Amino acid sequence: MKLYNKTKYPDDLLESLLIEAGKAVNARTAKVIVIATSGKAGYPSCHGVATRCDYVKRFALDTRAYKKGTYELKKGLVETDRGYFKITLPYPFLPDWVKASESYKQGRLLHDGLSITESIFSVASHEWRHIKQYQDNMFRDRFFVKQERRKRHDNRAWEKDAIKAANKAQDKPKNKAQEAILNLSLWIEENK
Ligand SMILES: [Zn+2]
Repeated sequence: MKLYNKTKYPDDLLESLLIEAGKAVNARTAKVIVIATSGKAGYPSCHGVATRCDYVKRFALDTRAYKKGTYELKKGLVETDRGYFKITLPYPFLPDWVKASESYKQGRLLHDGLSITESIFSVASHEWRHIKQYQDNMFRDRFFVKQERRKRHDNRAWEKDAIKAANKAQDKPKNKAQEAILNLSLWIEENK
């Protein structure tokens, strides 16, 4: 996996969690680009989007370098394996204003390591399943795709497949996946 980690999560812990999420839904993980960004502080929501492609522009992967005017250095393309996905992770730390807020004191804003990590795992395996669909060329019939796009988002064939696979991955995680989930959730608990 080619991880572009723009979050405050440690590279190694995040990488093993994301790779396990990919393996859990039978995707080929080795050459796939994954861009991880962070959500707003204090809001533990997680979401992602997968795109079908063979290459991603290098400057799109490292916007900081682009802003510094090193565009020339960042020219060119980075290869990926049939697609890439972007995942927005819950912000790992609790800022003081959140700790002081009424909703946090009343327990309405949950911030526990395990549920955050499990939501990352579940969103990641959903997006990995879309990558797997691109890799297997699962939904290639243009007419079929056009028909499915008329349906509501969650009712489309590829979404039903991804939701089913992600649920299965979460219900029966392998030992290595459990280990990766535990490691990242401990890190969140220690650093929040
Ligand atoms: Zn989806």
